[in-house]
Amino acid sequence: LTPTYWVSAGSAQRLHSATAELERLRAELDLAKVQATMDSLTGVTNRRGFDESIEKLLHDHAEGEAGPSVVLIDLDHFKRINDQYGHVFGDTVLKSVALAIRSCVKGRDLVARYGGEEFVVLLPGTALAGAAALAEQIRTTIAAARIRRGSQQESVGTITVSLGVAAWRPGEVLESLIDRADKALYRSKREGRNRVTLGE
Ligand code: GH3
Ligand code: MG
Ligand code: MG
Repeated sequence: LTPTYWVSAGSAQRLHSATAELERLRAELDLAKVQATMDSLTGVTNRRGFDESIEKLLHDHAEGEAGPSVVLIDLDHFKRINDQYGHVFGDTVLKSVALAIRSCVKGRDLVARYGGEEFVVLLPGTALAGAAALAEQIRTTIAAARIRRGSQQESVGTITVSLGVAAWRPGEVLESLIDRADKALYRSKREGRNRVTLGE
């Protein structure tokens, strides 16, 4: 069924390079789309990707379905790590923390970098109790890790995180959900860090 055209060698060549160019542009566009919602340092979803995902979840929420829940995670005294060992090593710590958080989640759960040294986990279909259990697992996983640095693998001691958990209430706007998780996180900080607090 393919029609046959008589084309000169020159126009066949031009057609070929136009097709190749189109394929190259398409691949570039696909890559740009992925990069638009990805954090380049840690490889997890970025703030924009998180916002898009949670807005969609709340919009599509089915009555009676649990969650979604969010777990906000902030590194404790991270400024000290940067001050003591430098920003480049601080970046390495952020990558390791992102990996540790990823190792705790599964399925539809989404890990995102919410800001500088703050991460968030979005848990579709998960009520507060399940989210609290996951938050505690993330806390213990990170606290148990021994961070090392340099060719001598010198120990840097431990890194801890403070967490705040909140489950969405039907009708609640996104800002209010995040605000409740944030207040819980700050209570974790106030009460001594390296702990999980549930939002009210
Ligand atoms: P707290 O326990 O109260 O959270 O103390 P903190 O030191 O972690 O918090 P603070 O907000 O005082 O400092 C956060 C630090 O995180 C300061 C900033 O330079 C660092 N930071 C933010 N983003 C990055 C990053 O991408 N790379 C590195 N290396 N550091 C970052
Ligand atoms: Mg912070
Ligand atoms: Mg911090």
